[in-house]
Amino acid sequence: VLARQVLIEVDRDRITAVIPDSGPRPSDAHLLEGLVLPGLVNAHSHAFHRVLRGRSEWARGTFWSWRNSMYALAERLDPESYEKLATAVYAEMALAGITTVGEFHYLHHGPGGVAYTDPNEMGRALLRAAGEVGIRITLLDACYLRAGFDEGPLSPAQLRFSDQSASNWAERVAGLLGQGDLAGTTRLAGLLGASSRIGVAAHSVRACDEVGLATVASLSSTEELPLHVHLAEQAAESRDCLAATSASPTGLLDEAGALGPRTTAVHAIDLQPADQNLLGLAHAGVCACPTTERELADGVGPFRALADAGVWLSLGSDSQAVIDLFEEARALELNERLEQKIRGIHTPAELFSAATRGGAYALGWQAGAIAVGGLADLISVDLDTPRLGGADLRGDNPGEELLARLIFAASAAEVRDVVIGGELVVTAGVHRRLGGPREVASRLQSAMADLFP
Ligand SMILES: [Zn+2]
Repeated sequence: VLARQVLIEVDRDRITAVIPDSGPRPSDAHLLEGLVLPGLVNAHSHAFHRVLRGRSEWARGTFWSWRNSMYALAERLDPESYEKLATAVYAEMALAGITTVGEFHYLHHGPGGVAYTDPNEMGRALLRAAGEVGIRITLLDACYLRAGFDEGPLSPAQLRFSDQSASNWAERVAGLLGQGDLAGTTRLAGLLGASSRIGVAAHSVRACDEVGLATVASLSSTEELPLHVHLAEQAAESRDCLAATSASPTGLLDEAGALGPRTTAVHAIDLQPADQNLLGLAHAGVCACPTTERELADGVGPFRALADAGVWLSLGSDSQAVIDLFEEARALELNERLEQKIRGIHTPAELFSAATRGGAYALGWQAGAIAVGGLADLISVDLDTPRLGGADLRGDNPGEELLARLIFAASAAEVRDVVIGGELVVTAGVHRRLGGPREVASRLQSAMADLFP
């Protein structure tokens, strides 16, 4: 629904009224100029991968050769440098209109796999970075136990990801859950504070054995936590999984009790029809990361078929190849067009929903719509720019027309104002504490200079 002069009333972090054609603006209201939309949700991020942008794209190779450069980078990070880097990356996200991030976190330990004094120091660095920026975060702590189905010992970088056993992982995550602003009060679905919560993840069926999968599933179920897992990004994973277990990766998740409405399968590319049905019957979600999937030559997932099977879709910037949810939504449709040789596979409303509501649901937040009772996470988009200016709206459904224009033409750079939990975080393209694009670029540069002096 498209409306003009909408007054959105907020009490603390929730929307309490939405009044179209509201007349003169109350004196304590803040004017959001342009088209106001629900905040964008980035359901799958690895903050540190941002360093590889511009360093790794041109090399000939595959996902697996790219992974080696990511491992080399992972070996350089410590809690201090990670917090500095993640603050800059989340600031880039905030300027791009991302109001919630799902941080899929697997770099837990120090060099050699030695735990930090506080074993959750790296996770806490990410939570502090999100707090500094004012972005809502679900920290998805990933269980990582092995190099692969039959790949021998963990590499030095992988040692930093591993808790050695599923019970060690569960104990460490219990440490995260037990703290935060709400410690001692009723714990609610991993909530740590007004804008941070914990979710769980199995890194993948490659890196997490059956005991690990069952442990992650059980913690998700008892604590009501979102459960994320990288699934079938590569054909090799499906092949190795079938050889080792006689099940597909999706089948293995199902057997471990890890498929349900709290589950989000990330990528979901190399799937058989039976896998698609399992995901649909479980009412699971799938998070597509189309700009990463095309950059890493992963392939194109059967996202239309998944949606038709009952799966809800969300979107993620994953490797941070770009941080632009409009581009992800556009790529979801356009990648599938190249594959199917048909246009108009997902409607603009479905694509926008994947960039907002679908992600919010995947991360455990009541957000992604401008609706009474929901979180006051809003952005405004400047329509008077060369990218978006042009023809008047002429059709019977101007809202849909405008949404299509955004999906097919907008970029992160058109985002003007950003409100998260009722707080104005970005005004006219400038973060209120961390500055505009130039200041954020200089933060990114400085964080990376620390890693590659
Ligand atoms: Zn990922």
